[in-house]
Amino acid sequence: MSRIARLAERLDEPLLVTGPTNVRYLTGLSSSNAAVLVEPAGNATLYTDFRYVENARATGVDVVEVARDLIGSLSTLLAGRRVAFEAPHVSYDTYARLASAGTELISSGSHVGSVAAGPVEDLRRVKDPSEVDAIRRASRLSDAVFAELVQERFTGRTERELAWWLESAFHEAGAEGLAFSSIVATGANGASPHADPGDRVIETGTLVTIDMGCVVDGYCSDCTRTFATGELPARLDEVYSVCLQAQLDGLAAVRPGAHGRDVDAASRVAVAAAGLGDCYGHGLGHGVGLDVHEAPVLRPESKDMLVAGNVVTVEPGIYLPGVGGVRIEDLVLVTDDGAERLTRFEKELTVVG
Ligand code: ZN
Ligand code: ZN
Repeated sequence: MSRIARLAERLDEPLLVTGPTNVRYLTGLSSSNAAVLVEPAGNATLYTDFRYVENARATGVDVVEVARDLIGSLSTLLAGRRVAFEAPHVSYDTYARLASAGTELISSGSHVGSVAAGPVEDLRRVKDPSEVDAIRRASRLSDAVFAELVQERFTGRTERELAWWLESAFHEAGAEGLAFSSIVATGANGASPHADPGDRVIETGTLVTIDMGCVVDGYCSDCTRTFATGELPARLDEVYSVCLQAQLDGLAAVRPGAHGRDVDAASRVAVAAAGLGDCYGHGLGHGVGLDVHEAPVLRPESKDMLVAGNVVTVEPGIYLPGVGGVRIEDLVLVTDDGAERLTRFEKELTVVG
């Protein structure tokens, strides 16, 4: 059954899909100015402007060419109708324009934490084989780039230089682009989970956390490794071992039927036992697909349950303010009887030059 047909089955009223990633997921059209109206009966109409109309016609979905002012056109076309809209993807301005033209608007979806949730996102949780294949290829590129990276000199270079090296390495390996701006964090910067790479020079005898991902056929990879530049102070060595244990425990808990909060909890046991519970201040992981952060989520407050076909990260981190941090992240496919790790680069502490 097509994605549009599966969405239609879940609808009580027509849904105006405006999130660009959701439009792409349903129709195959990549466009910054398109919407698709899906009716409960299963028919769908794709609205876009002149610039995208040829590509839109190639999708096989019925196309209506509209003005560059997509919302202005939709206001006229949908006036007097009752239509659900994707609340996480509709600005207040868009809402007001559609409403004032006389469309009865029903809110659908919301944000759960930082992740958009709605009927299309629900479908996107379970990847089909072609989606898994793209994520697998993106993950393999990431493994290959990590293998090249550890041959590079780290010490004496800045975080930013390594971030640029990563971007060109992904480009040369054949990625379409980066899934997100790479994180390269060393020394005390490593204590900030989402540090921007800066002019800090990488020193000997410290940790360097590298969180990176690329895009292949629209799908993202996401993987983090933390490396040592020479021999570490005993404290950092210990923190690495605890984080690795937490990561392995989290991975072992991933299987169909597991609750997101329980998988998260499994990764906290070793960290709490080491007295470092307060230093692990984020959730264990998130779904990955066309977006690098999507449902389901593995967090203490998660209401999600894993099913076969989910692709999630498992990424505990331990951050010692002013000292440094460790994060280890793999991307995992939930299978019928457990989990398959998609990112496979070495996780034992690797010493770089
Ligand atoms: Zn990551
Ligand atoms: Zn991640």
